[in-house]
Amino acid sequence: MEYHDHRLAGAAPEPKNTMKEIITISKEDYLKAILEAESEGQTVISSTLAHWLSVSPPAVTMALKRLKRDGYVEVKGDGIVRLTPKGKETAYHTARRHHLIERMLSEMFSMDWYRVHDEAERLEHAVSPAFEAKLIERLGEKGLCPHGNSILPESPEQLKKRGLVPLFEATLDVNYTVSCLHERDPKLLAFLHHSGIGPNARVKVIERNYDETVTIQTPSGTITLGRPAAEKVWVKRRKR
Ligand SMILES: [Zn+2]
Repeated sequence: MEYHDHRLAGAAPEPKNTMKEIITISKEDYLKAILEAESEGQTVISSTLAHWLSVSPPAVTMALKRLKRDGYVEVKGDGIVRLTPKGKETAYHTARRHHLIERMLSEMFSMDWYRVHDEAERLEHAVSPAFEAKLIERLGEKGLCPHGNSILPESPEQLKKRGLVPLFEATLDVNYTVSCLHERDPKLLAFLHHSGIGPNARVKVIERNYDETVTIQTPSGTITLGRPAAEKVWVKRRKR
């Protein structure tokens, strides 16, 4: 793929045995990250992309230049990166493939939920249209991924319509079940996993603290989560 940039801009492709260490950030990765952020109602600027994709700011600048030149994004005077219709189409397609691969890894190979995202990031670029059609045939397009997300990223409004609230805003002392997690940030997923919070976990906010943290009862004990993590976990009220 013409856009494949290495983490170190301009570096020659590495020999196979060191590939594990190097995550290739492609055009599709950029577009998908922008799509996800837009659907979460976040504004995307160059430095946020560098953070999410773990690439250097100069690498992002170069990639954005090319994405702009090729008509995938526009960056106006305010510095905000927005997808063009062409960019959206490519991003949708990538998101769809990502979703199908995550479901394949989880439903067909029982891979742990906090590992599938990274694995899907690698595999999604290798999927041919024929294999994609096979995955759709086998898995269907309606299901949720192991993080509880639907095939295209949903906005906070759409999630609220599904009856979900961010854990950060959950009512005190009420039983909830974790429905979905923001999956863009692998560090967040690992952090949540270590904190005992995953899809379908039963949680209850027992205290809302002055420093914008919440104390939560989870199946594995009581933990305290800061707002940046607690607002990326969406929960649904349990009947009892
Ligand atoms: Zn997912």
